[in-house]
Amino acid sequence: MTFDYDLFVIGGGSGGVRAARVAAGETGAKVALAEEDRYGGTCVQRGCVPKKLMVFASGYGEMAKDAASYGWAMHAGGFDWQVFKEKLEAELDRLEGVYRKLLAGSDVEMFDARATVKDAHTVQLSTGETKTAKHILLAMGGKPVKPGIPGEELAITSNEIFHLETLPKRVLIVGGGYIACEFAGILNGLGAQVTQFYRGAQVLRGFDDEARGLVAEEMRKAGVDLHLGTNILEMKRDGEGIWVKATNGTESHYDEVMFATGRAPNTEGMGLEEVGVELGRHGQVVVDAFSQTAVPSIYAIGDVTDRVNLTPVAIREGMAFVETVFKGNPTPVDHDLIPSAVFTQPELGTVGLSEEAARENEEVEVYCTSFKPMQQSFAGREDRVLMKLVVSKANRTVLGCHIVAPNAGEMIQLAGIAVKMGATKEDFDRTVAVHPTMSEELVTMRSPMRTA
Ligand code: NDP
Repeated sequence: MTFDYDLFVIGGGSGGVRAARVAAGETGAKVALAEEDRYGGTCVQRGCVPKKLMVFASGYGEMAKDAASYGWAMHAGGFDWQVFKEKLEAELDRLEGVYRKLLAGSDVEMFDARATVKDAHTVQLSTGETKTAKHILLAMGGKPVKPGIPGEELAITSNEIFHLETLPKRVLIVGGGYIACEFAGILNGLGAQVTQFYRGAQVLRGFDDEARGLVAEEMRKAGVDLHLGTNILEMKRDGEGIWVKATNGTESHYDEVMFATGRAPNTEGMGLEEVGVELGRHGQVVVDAFSQTAVPSIYAIGDVTDRVNLTPVAIREGMAFVETVFKGNPTPVDHDLIPSAVFTQPELGTVGLSEEAARENEEVEVYCTSFKPMQQSFAGREDRVLMKLVVSKANRTVLGCHIVAPNAGEMIQLAGIAVKMGATKEDFDRTVAVHPTMSEELVTMRSPMRTA
């Protein structure tokens, strides 16, 4: 049987674009890709990239204050959302152009259309055309979900936050995950009055308890009005803005309410179950270690599989797919010990197990220090940072490393190499400190804070 293509990729985000480019560019496969929205996907258009630029933008107000403490005659004027937004939109346009150019340069045929799956080897395009391919790769990503409460259509999600016409004065953020905490810090830094509701006892569930505790404390110190054990009951618009009733009995008004209450895989209306692709309880595509679905010619990577929803993981899964299917080298994706960072202020960088998770498996030693960093302390700030290692008592392996500090994302990338290599506490100790830095504490902690 002959097909139009060797590979048809659905979704032009980080994972899909990488798989398409590498399959076409490195193996000579005939590849097509369909994207219904903007190239670059969530990461580039509605996530990591614009978010990080907003994190940068939100830091300058405090930086200007600190500069004065260092002798600079400087003060931050007002932040102009319009100026920033225009630059941000231009940057996202530029990046979309880069993605299109990369695909074209690898001879990937692009369809600016929605694609659904018709059978094991056929996709249906919204243009009316059908295309056949030996392999189909599902890389449609995910989308934010709202919790299902009365009036929720008044609220925005992370999809809309980058395109607001004006910067809201009073914002409510609902949720306690990555997105909620990052945007609480960003909007607070840009000058908005930020309230955050989280239904649980502490934000950033799943991260190390001590680290999440410090992040929450620093967020509060920075001005975020964080309410734990609190959720939103209903909302409606009235003359004063968006009226919100909460589970803690309060009623208040906001200019914007943002739900950051999780994301769902983009599998609805794709025709997947009809052709035999298995979907899980959250609508995610069920795949094996090689990203193959229940239909042998159909594979899936990235957030649509709801494994580890991070851009670099989707890219890895895309590369492993090409290696397996187009290079004849079956390659499972290694999802173990993935470093990641939450871009709160301060950032949280983490790799490996939290103290709580490690303790479940074995006896551990905890090496931990919290202190006022030099740069902020000199400027008269009370900010604290945390450096923490969770070590196996039996074989001395560092099971987890947790950093709460400015630029912790940069630090954890490097600490992640050592932890991935299986470094022991003694390997950390053998490494000479870089002085004066914050991260030098990671190699100078002599005695365990506790054994658990
Ligand atoms: P998360 O799953 O991290 O967090 C969702 C939050 O919403 C949790 O606090 C959850 O509470 C809460 N929640 C869920 N349902 C409800 C509800 N019905 N009512 C109230 N609260 C609710 O999702 P995010 O949307 O923040 O992020 C999605 C994923 O995107 C992340 O898991 C991560 O993989 C990725 N991401 C990574 C970033 C990075 O690397 N820096 C940045 C942004 C996103 P509970 O804890 O009680 O379940």
